[in-house]
Amino acid sequence: YKIDDDGEIEPLNNHQQEEVDSKTLYAESIKKGLENGNIYPYYQPVLTSDGEELHGVEALARWEHPEKGLVPPIDFIDHAEEYDFIDWLDEVICRRACKDMKELMDQTGKRFMLSVNISAVHIRKQDFADRIEAILYETGFPAEYLAIEITETSLIDNLSDVAVTFQQLKNLGVKIAIDDFGTTYSSLNYLKYLPVDTIKLDKTFIHDVDKSPIDRRICKTIIQLGSDLDLNVVAEGVECDQHLSIIQDFGCHIYQGYYFSKPLTLDGWKTYLEQF
Ligand code: C2E
Ligand code: CA
Ligand code: CA
Ligand code: CA
Repeated sequence: YKIDDDGEIEPLNNHQQEEVDSKTLYAESIKKGLENGNIYPYYQPVLTSDGEELHGVEALARWEHPEKGLVPPIDFIDHAEEYDFIDWLDEVICRRACKDMKELMDQTGKRFMLSVNISAVHIRKQDFADRIEAILYETGFPAEYLAIEITETSLIDNLSDVAVTFQQLKNLGVKIAIDDFGTTYSSLNYLKYLPVDTIKLDKTFIHDVDKSPIDRRICKTIIQLGSDLDLNVVAEGVECDQHLSIIQDFGCHIYQGYYFSKPLTLDGWKTYLEQF
């Protein structure tokens, strides 16, 4: 059944029913992937000082599908949100990344930030901070090196509800970053109401920063805002030398993008780390 425009309940036609069935099946296969360990993180380096120093790494979910090969998050994150298991997915990635990076830190003696993506839908759950605390405890990963990147795909209508959760995270020592800054509904409200450490300048603003005067002004303004508020600003999607030099001129010194490295497998990341 579906609810029509007048709020009346109407049966679905055959075509609509098939669509629902195939979506449900797809959601089930994503859950299988989570159960079997076939959804796990890739790691993209985050650099500073012209790329000569390491700032950290971002864990990005990938699904190793038995038939389709490596599936990008755009093909499964939305489903996990719609079918209400994004919390499970986020935690699988977070736990795995904390475990693997803790091991790597112990092996190498190196320290770097680890960023994980958390859907805003997930943060609204009451026990979110407790679950992160449990993962830190279980893996031994140092809280002060963990950053939570909040990705907003739906509106958080009551920020005061989540403010408590954020304060709990801060008390643990975890850092808080706003992902895709400037592209989402409540970017500025987040800064007003929540204890944010970092904003991530979305790659859509960086992409044409060398060609488009308006994009240039947006980048400059966001970087300035970040600096006025004493926040770290991380630029994502840095693909070339021009991108890098423009944002550096604007005062942004933490960056991530294909210019430095694509997201890597765990082994690829271990090798990359050797140069620092
Ligand atoms: P995001 O958090 O904004 O991550 C940046 C995306 O840009 C990643 O795409 C990354 O591979 C890509 N990227 C990095 N450098 C460049 C570049 O120089 N050029 C271009 N064109 N792209 C670049 P990816 O890995 O496909 O992830 C897409 C989105 O999926 C992420 O965007 C994030 O919102 C979401 N996501 C990924 N993993 C998770 C997760 O574990 N949980 C949740 N809730 N969302 C996740
Ligand atoms: Ca992110
Ligand atoms: Ca995003
Ligand atoms: Ca982004």
